[in-house]
Amino acid sequence: MLVKTPVGTEALVAFERVTKSYDGATLVVKALDLTVRRGEFLTLLGPSGSGKTTTLMMLAGFERPTSGHILLDGAPVEKLPPEKRNIGVVFQNYALFPHMSVEENIAFPLRYHGVTGPAAKEKVDKVLGMIHLEGFGGRRPTQLSGGQQQRVALARALVFQPKLVLMDEPLGALDKQLRERMQVEIKHIQRSLGVTIVFVTHDQSEALTMSDRIAVFSDGMVQQLAGPTELYERPANRFVAQFIGENNVLPGDVSTDGRALRLAGGAVVLLPAAIAPGAVEATVRPERLQAADRASDRAIRFPATVREVFFLGDHARLTCEGLGVAELSVKMAAAEFSVLQPAAGSSLTLAFEPEAIHVLAR
Ligand code: ADP
Ligand code: MG
Repeated sequence: MLVKTPVGTEALVAFERVTKSYDGATLVVKALDLTVRRGEFLTLLGPSGSGKTTTLMMLAGFERPTSGHILLDGAPVEKLPPEKRNIGVVFQNYALFPHMSVEENIAFPLRYHGVTGPAAKEKVDKVLGMIHLEGFGGRRPTQLSGGQQQRVALARALVFQPKLVLMDEPLGALDKQLRERMQVEIKHIQRSLGVTIVFVTHDQSEALTMSDRIAVFSDGMVQQLAGPTELYERPANRFVAQFIGENNVLPGDVSTDGRALRLAGGAVVLLPAAIAPGAVEATVRPERLQAADRASDRAIRFPATVREVFFLGDHARLTCEGLGVAELSVKMAAAEFSVLQPAAGSSLTLAFEPEAIHVLAR
Protein backbone atom coordinates (compact mmCIF):
# COMPACT_ATOMS: atom_id res chain seq x y z
CA MET A 1 0.00 0.00 0.00
CA LEU A 2 1.21 3.45 -0.83
CA VAL A 3 1.27 5.70 2.19
CA LYS A 4 2.09 9.27 1.41
CA THR A 5 4.42 10.64 4.02
CA PRO A 6 3.94 14.37 4.44
CA VAL A 7 7.05 16.36 3.73
CA GLY A 8 8.07 18.47 6.70
CA THR A 9 9.63 21.89 6.57
CA GLU A 10 12.30 20.91 9.05
CA ALA A 11 15.82 20.81 7.61
CA LEU A 12 17.61 17.47 7.47
CA VAL A 13 20.54 18.86 5.48
CA ALA A 14 21.81 22.41 5.19
CA PHE A 15 24.58 23.61 2.88
CA GLU A 16 25.85 26.94 4.20
CA ARG A 17 27.94 29.04 1.81
CA VAL A 18 29.65 25.90 0.51
CA THR A 19 32.28 26.28 -2.20
CA LYS A 20 34.44 23.70 -3.92
CA SER A 21 37.55 24.02 -6.02
CA TYR A 22 39.54 21.00 -7.21
CA ASP A 23 42.48 22.96 -8.57
CA GLY A 24 42.61 25.87 -6.12
CA ALA A 25 41.72 28.31 -8.92
CA THR A 26 38.21 27.73 -10.30
CA LEU A 27 35.14 27.22 -8.14
CA VAL A 28 32.97 24.40 -9.47
CA VAL A 29 30.50 24.98 -6.62
CA LYS A 30 29.96 28.65 -5.76
CA ALA A 31 28.55 29.80 -2.41
CA LEU A 32 25.91 27.12 -2.20
CA ASP A 33 23.05 27.66 0.26
CA LEU A 34 20.64 24.77 0.07
CA THR A 35 18.29 23.13 2.54
CA VAL A 36 16.95 19.60 2.19
CA ARG A 37 13.74 19.02 4.12
CA ARG A 38 13.10 15.85 6.06
CA GLY A 39 11.13 13.34 3.96
CA GLU A 40 11.38 15.22 0.68
CA PHE A 41 12.51 14.11 -2.75
CA LEU A 42 14.89 16.84 -3.83
CA THR A 43 16.51 16.79 -7.25
CA LEU A 44 19.67 18.54 -8.37
CA LEU A 45 19.00 19.19 -12.05
CA GLY A 46 21.45 20.76 -14.46
CA PRO A 47 23.63 20.26 -17.50
CA SER A 48 26.82 18.21 -17.41
CA GLY A 49 29.61 19.96 -15.50
CA SER A 50 27.30 22.20 -13.47
CA GLY A 51 28.48 20.81 -10.11
CA LYS A 52 25.74 18.31 -9.22
CA THR A 53 27.97 15.30 -8.52
CA THR A 54 30.46 17.43 -6.59
CA THR A 55 27.64 18.70 -4.37
CA LEU A 56 26.39 15.16 -3.76
CA MET A 57 29.90 13.84 -3.05
CA MET A 58 30.51 16.56 -0.45
CA LEU A 59 27.30 15.55 1.31
CA ALA A 60 28.24 11.86 1.13
CA GLY A 61 31.70 12.65 2.49
CA PHE A 62 33.81 11.60 -0.51
CA GLU A 63 34.83 15.20 -1.22
CA ARG A 64 35.59 18.03 1.20
CA PRO A 65 34.17 21.53 0.77
CA THR A 66 36.82 24.17 0.09
CA SER A 67 34.88 26.51 2.37
CA GLY A 68 31.50 26.66 4.09
CA HIS A 69 29.63 24.10 6.16
CA ILE A 70 27.34 21.15 5.66
CA LEU A 71 24.96 20.34 8.50
CA LEU A 72 23.22 17.00 8.88
CA ASP A 73 20.48 16.99 11.49
CA GLY A 74 21.83 20.32 12.69
CA ALA A 75 25.40 19.13 13.26
CA PRO A 76 28.41 19.84 11.01
CA VAL A 77 29.59 16.73 9.15
CA GLU A 78 32.90 17.90 7.68
CA LYS A 79 34.93 15.75 10.04
CA LEU A 80 32.80 12.60 9.68
CA PRO A 81 34.01 9.93 7.21
CA PRO A 82 31.37 8.68 4.71
CA GLU A 83 30.56 5.48 6.63
CA LYS A 84 29.76 7.44 9.79
CA ARG A 85 27.24 9.72 8.09
CA ASN A 86 24.52 7.08 7.88
CA ILE A 87 23.75 8.01 4.28
CA GLY A 88 22.83 5.50 1.54
CA VAL A 89 24.41 6.18 -1.85
CA VAL A 90 23.49 4.90 -5.32
CA PHE A 91 25.82 5.66 -8.22
CA GLN A 92 25.13 5.58 -11.95
CA ASN A 93 27.43 2.62 -12.57
CA TYR A 94 25.82 0.49 -9.80
CA ALA A 95 29.24 -0.35 -8.25
CA LEU A 96 28.08 -3.80 -7.14
CA PHE A 97 30.80 -6.24 -6.02
CA PRO A 98 31.02 -8.75 -8.89
CA HIS A 99 32.42 -11.61 -6.77
CA MET A 100 29.56 -11.40 -4.24
CA SER A 101 26.01 -12.69 -4.55
CA VAL A 102 23.06 -10.31 -4.59
CA GLU A 103 22.40 -11.13 -0.94
CA GLU A 104 26.02 -10.50 0.07
CA ASN A 105 26.05 -7.24 -1.85
CA ILE A 106 22.94 -6.00 -0.09
CA ALA A 107 24.15 -7.21 3.34
CA PHE A 108 27.52 -5.50 2.94
CA PRO A 109 26.66 -2.18 4.64
CA LEU A 110 24.94 -4.08 7.46
CA ARG A 111 28.27 -5.56 8.52
CA TYR A 112 29.57 -2.07 9.19
CA HIS A 113 26.47 -1.37 11.27
CA GLY A 114 27.09 -4.55 13.28
CA VAL A 115 24.09 -6.46 11.93
CA THR A 116 24.88 -10.09 11.00
CA GLY A 117 23.30 -13.57 10.99
CA PRO A 118 19.51 -14.01 11.01
CA ALA A 119 18.91 -10.30 11.72
CA ALA A 120 20.82 -9.39 8.58
CA LYS A 121 19.04 -12.08 6.55
CA GLU A 122 15.68 -10.73 7.63
CA LYS A 123 16.57 -7.18 6.55
CA VAL A 124 17.97 -8.40 3.23
CA ASP A 125 14.83 -10.45 2.48
CA LYS A 126 12.60 -7.53 3.31
CA VAL A 127 14.42 -5.16 1.00
CA LEU A 128 14.60 -7.82 -1.77
CA GLY A 129 10.80 -7.97 -1.60
CA MET A 130 10.57 -4.21 -1.81
CA ILE A 131 12.50 -4.18 -5.10
CA HIS A 132 10.66 -7.26 -6.45
CA LEU A 133 13.72 -9.52 -6.54
CA GLU A 134 12.60 -12.25 -4.13
CA GLY A 135 14.48 -15.45 -4.98
CA PHE A 136 17.36 -13.64 -6.69
CA GLY A 137 19.53 -13.47 -3.56
CA GLY A 138 21.91 -16.24 -4.65
CA ARG A 139 22.72 -14.82 -8.07
CA ARG A 140 25.83 -12.91 -9.08
CA PRO A 141 25.41 -9.34 -10.45
CA THR A 142 26.51 -10.57 -13.92
CA GLN A 143 23.48 -12.89 -13.95
CA LEU A 144 21.12 -9.92 -13.68
CA SER A 145 19.84 -7.41 -16.25
CA GLY A 146 20.84 -3.76 -15.98
CA GLY A 147 17.52 -2.86 -14.40
CA GLN A 148 17.83 -5.65 -11.85
CA GLN A 149 21.38 -4.60 -10.96
CA GLN A 150 20.16 -1.07 -10.43
CA ARG A 151 17.45 -2.38 -8.09
CA VAL A 152 20.11 -4.26 -6.08
CA ALA A 153 22.14 -1.06 -5.79
CA LEU A 154 19.02 0.68 -4.51
CA ALA A 155 18.37 -2.15 -2.03
CA ARG A 156 21.94 -1.91 -0.74
CA ALA A 157 21.46 1.81 -0.12
CA LEU A 158 18.19 1.25 1.74
CA VAL A 159 18.97 -1.88 3.78
CA PHE A 160 20.41 -0.15 6.83
CA GLN A 161 17.42 2.20 6.94
CA PRO A 162 19.35 5.41 6.41
CA LYS A 163 17.38 8.59 6.83
CA LEU A 164 19.00 10.02 3.73
CA VAL A 165 19.70 8.40 0.36
CA LEU A 166 21.74 10.06 -2.39
CA MET A 167 21.33 8.95 -6.00
CA ASP A 168 23.60 10.16 -8.80
CA GLU A 169 22.00 9.66 -12.23
CA PRO A 170 20.97 6.15 -11.14
CA LEU A 171 18.78 5.49 -14.19
CA GLY A 172 21.11 6.90 -16.83
CA ALA A 173 22.14 3.52 -18.22
CA LEU A 174 18.62 2.12 -18.59
CA ASP A 175 16.45 2.27 -21.69
CA LYS A 176 13.53 4.70 -21.74
CA GLN A 177 10.77 2.26 -20.79
CA LEU A 178 12.66 0.72 -17.88
CA ARG A 179 13.81 4.13 -16.73
CA GLU A 180 10.24 5.38 -16.53
CA ARG A 181 9.14 2.29 -14.61
CA MET A 182 12.02 2.68 -12.15
CA GLN A 183 11.15 6.37 -11.66
CA VAL A 184 7.70 5.39 -10.45
CA GLU A 185 9.05 2.54 -8.32
CA ILE A 186 11.68 4.68 -6.61
CA LYS A 187 9.01 7.28 -5.92
CA HIS A 188 6.73 4.62 -4.36
CA ILE A 189 9.51 3.25 -2.18
CA GLN A 190 10.54 6.74 -1.09
CA ARG A 191 6.99 7.65 -0.09
CA SER A 192 6.24 4.43 1.72
CA LEU A 193 9.49 4.53 3.71
CA GLY A 194 9.38 8.27 4.27
CA VAL A 195 13.10 8.41 3.46
CA THR A 196 14.68 11.65 2.26
CA ILE A 197 16.23 11.42 -1.21
CA VAL A 198 18.63 13.77 -2.93
CA PHE A 199 18.60 12.75 -6.58
CA VAL A 200 20.85 13.97 -9.39
CA THR A 201 19.83 14.06 -13.04
CA HIS A 202 20.35 16.11 -16.18
CA ASP A 203 16.97 14.96 -17.49
CA GLN A 204 14.32 17.61 -16.86
CA SER A 205 11.33 15.32 -17.41
CA GLU A 206 12.76 12.83 -14.90
CA ALA A 207 13.15 15.69 -12.41
CA LEU A 208 9.61 16.96 -13.00
CA THR A 209 8.13 13.45 -12.59
CA MET A 210 9.91 12.50 -9.38
CA SER A 211 10.62 15.57 -7.30
CA ASP A 212 8.95 17.47 -4.51
CA ARG A 213 11.43 20.25 -5.21
CA ILE A 214 14.10 20.81 -7.83
CA ALA A 215 17.32 22.81 -7.49
CA VAL A 216 18.30 23.91 -10.99
CA PHE A 217 22.10 24.03 -11.27
CA SER A 218 24.13 25.97 -13.78
CA ASP A 219 27.79 26.82 -13.55
CA GLY A 220 28.16 25.82 -9.89
CA MET A 221 25.17 27.84 -8.73
CA VAL A 222 21.54 27.14 -7.93
CA GLN A 223 19.52 29.21 -10.39
CA GLN A 224 16.19 28.40 -8.79
CA LEU A 225 14.88 26.08 -6.08
CA ALA A 226 11.16 25.33 -6.36
CA GLY A 227 8.50 22.69 -6.96
CA PRO A 228 7.95 21.35 -10.50
CA THR A 229 4.88 23.50 -11.25
CA GLU A 230 6.45 26.69 -9.96
CA LEU A 231 9.62 26.05 -12.01
CA TYR A 232 7.60 25.40 -15.13
CA GLU A 233 5.12 28.27 -14.71
CA ARG A 234 7.36 30.88 -13.14
CA PRO A 235 11.00 30.34 -14.08
CA ALA A 236 13.29 32.81 -12.30
CA ASN A 237 15.46 33.54 -15.31
CA ARG A 238 16.17 32.76 -18.94
CA PHE A 239 18.31 29.73 -18.13
CA VAL A 240 15.59 28.02 -16.10
CA ALA A 241 12.91 29.07 -18.61
CA GLN A 242 14.72 27.29 -21.42
CA PHE A 243 16.21 24.35 -19.49
CA ILE A 244 12.87 23.16 -18.08
CA GLY A 245 10.70 22.22 -21.03
CA GLU A 246 10.54 24.20 -24.24
CA ASN A 247 9.96 27.94 -24.16
CA ASN A 248 9.77 31.01 -26.38
CA VAL A 249 11.60 34.10 -25.16
CA LEU A 250 10.00 37.31 -26.44
CA PRO A 251 11.44 40.83 -26.45
CA GLY A 252 9.12 43.37 -24.84
CA ASP A 253 8.77 46.78 -23.30
CA VAL A 254 6.93 47.73 -20.09
CA SER A 255 4.95 51.00 -20.22
CA THR A 256 5.92 53.97 -18.02
CA ASP A 257 3.08 53.23 -15.56
CA GLY A 258 4.39 49.66 -15.28
CA ARG A 259 1.03 48.07 -16.09
CA ALA A 260 1.29 47.11 -19.77
CA LEU A 261 3.75 44.93 -21.65
CA ARG A 262 4.10 45.74 -25.35
CA LEU A 263 5.53 42.85 -27.35
CA ALA A 264 7.33 43.25 -30.66
CA GLY A 265 4.71 43.33 -33.40
CA GLY A 266 2.34 45.41 -31.28
CA ALA A 267 0.52 42.90 -29.06
CA VAL A 268 -0.17 44.44 -25.64
CA VAL A 269 -0.61 42.44 -22.42
CA LEU A 270 -1.96 44.02 -19.24
CA LEU A 271 0.16 42.91 -16.31
CA PRO A 272 -1.47 41.59 -13.11
CA ALA A 273 0.79 43.83 -11.00
CA ALA A 274 2.85 46.85 -11.94
CA ILE A 275 6.56 46.30 -12.58
CA ALA A 276 9.46 48.60 -13.42
CA PRO A 277 9.17 50.18 -16.88
CA GLY A 278 11.64 49.50 -19.68
CA ALA A 279 12.93 46.64 -21.80
CA VAL A 280 12.19 43.08 -20.59
CA GLU A 281 12.11 39.51 -21.78
CA ALA A 282 8.91 37.52 -21.46
CA THR A 283 8.21 33.84 -22.05
CA VAL A 284 5.35 31.88 -23.53
CA ARG A 285 5.25 28.06 -23.76
CA PRO A 286 4.62 26.50 -27.22
CA GLU A 287 1.49 24.76 -25.89
CA ARG A 288 0.00 28.11 -24.78
CA LEU A 289 -0.03 29.46 -28.35
CA GLN A 290 -3.09 28.48 -30.36
CA ALA A 291 -5.09 29.35 -33.47
CA ALA A 292 -7.03 32.61 -32.96
CA ASP A 293 -10.45 31.24 -33.92
CA ARG A 294 -10.30 28.75 -31.04
CA ALA A 295 -9.16 31.29 -28.46
CA SER A 296 -11.36 33.09 -25.90
CA ASP A 297 -12.44 36.74 -26.13
CA ARG A 298 -9.78 37.69 -23.60
CA ALA A 299 -7.01 36.13 -25.69
CA ILE A 300 -4.44 38.37 -27.35
CA ARG A 301 -4.14 37.85 -31.07
CA PHE A 302 -1.13 38.38 -33.33
CA PRO A 303 -0.16 37.65 -36.93
CA ALA A 304 2.38 34.95 -37.68
CA THR A 305 3.97 33.34 -40.71
CA VAL A 306 4.41 29.57 -40.75
CA ARG A 307 7.99 28.54 -41.55
CA GLU A 308 8.04 24.80 -40.83
CA VAL A 309 5.50 22.13 -39.93
CA PHE A 310 6.13 18.81 -38.15
CA PHE A 311 3.26 16.40 -37.60
CA LEU A 312 3.80 14.13 -34.56
CA GLY A 313 0.57 12.15 -34.32
CA ASP A 314 -1.14 13.53 -31.20
CA HIS A 315 0.07 17.05 -31.92
CA ALA A 316 1.94 19.15 -34.46
CA ARG A 317 4.88 21.49 -34.05
CA LEU A 318 4.98 24.68 -36.05
CA THR A 319 7.89 27.02 -36.31
CA CYS A 320 6.50 30.47 -37.02
CA GLU A 321 7.70 34.02 -37.33
CA GLY A 322 5.81 36.31 -34.97
CA LEU A 323 6.01 38.48 -31.83
CA GLY A 324 9.42 39.64 -32.97
CA VAL A 325 10.83 36.12 -32.91
CA ALA A 326 12.14 34.41 -36.05
CA GLU A 327 11.55 30.90 -34.72
CA LEU A 328 8.49 30.94 -32.53
CA SER A 329 7.64 27.40 -31.49
CA VAL A 330 3.95 26.44 -31.46
CA LYS A 331 2.53 23.16 -30.22
CA MET A 332 -0.85 22.55 -31.83
CA ALA A 333 -3.31 19.81 -30.85
CA ALA A 334 -3.98 17.26 -33.61
CA ALA A 335 -7.69 18.19 -33.89
CA GLU A 336 -6.91 21.86 -34.39
CA PHE A 337 -4.12 20.99 -36.81
CA SER A 338 -6.34 18.84 -39.02
CA VAL A 339 -8.92 21.63 -39.33
CA LEU A 340 -6.42 24.40 -40.03
CA GLN A 341 -3.94 22.45 -42.18
CA PRO A 342 -1.31 25.20 -41.82
CA ALA A 343 1.31 25.00 -44.55
CA ALA A 344 4.83 26.40 -44.65
CA GLY A 345 4.77 29.92 -46.07
CA SER A 346 1.16 30.65 -45.09
CA SER A 347 -0.06 33.39 -42.76
CA LEU A 348 -1.94 32.59 -39.59
CA THR A 349 -3.47 34.49 -36.69
CA LEU A 350 -2.33 33.01 -33.39
CA ALA A 351 -3.42 33.85 -29.86
CA PHE A 352 -2.55 33.39 -26.20
CA GLU A 353 -4.31 34.05 -22.91
CA PRO A 354 -2.73 36.93 -20.95
CA GLU A 355 -1.82 34.53 -18.09
CA ALA A 356 0.38 32.56 -20.49
CA ILE A 357 2.91 35.39 -20.51
CA HIS A 358 5.60 35.30 -17.85
CA VAL A 359 7.95 38.27 -17.51
CA LEU A 360 11.50 37.28 -16.58
CA ALA A 361 13.24 39.12 -13.77
CA ARG A 362 15.80 41.67 -14.99
P1 ADP B 1 27.99 17.40 -12.93
O1 ADP B 1 27.77 16.25 -12.00
O2 ADP B 1 26.94 18.45 -12.83
O3 ADP B 1 28.18 16.96 -14.35
P2 ADP B 1 30.56 17.68 -11.63
O4 ADP B 1 30.33 18.01 -10.21
O5 ADP B 1 30.93 16.27 -11.94
O6 ADP B 1 29.32 18.15 -12.51
O7 ADP B 1 31.73 18.60 -12.21
C1 ADP B 1 31.77 19.99 -12.02
C2 ADP B 1 33.11 20.50 -12.53
O8 ADP B 1 34.15 20.00 -11.72
C3 ADP B 1 33.44 20.06 -13.94
O9 ADP B 1 34.07 21.11 -14.59
C4 ADP B 1 34.37 18.89 -13.74
O10 ADP B 1 35.25 18.77 -14.82
C5 ADP B 1 35.10 19.27 -12.46
N1 ADP B 1 35.50 18.08 -11.68
C6 ADP B 1 34.64 17.12 -11.20
N2 ADP B 1 35.32 16.20 -10.48
C7 ADP B 1 36.62 16.57 -10.50
C8 ADP B 1 37.81 16.04 -9.93
N3 ADP B 1 37.79 14.93 -9.18
N4 ADP B 1 38.96 16.70 -10.16
C9 ADP B 1 38.97 17.84 -10.89
N5 ADP B 1 37.90 18.40 -11.46
C10 ADP B 1 36.72 17.79 -11.27
MG1 MG C 1 27.59 14.20 -12.46
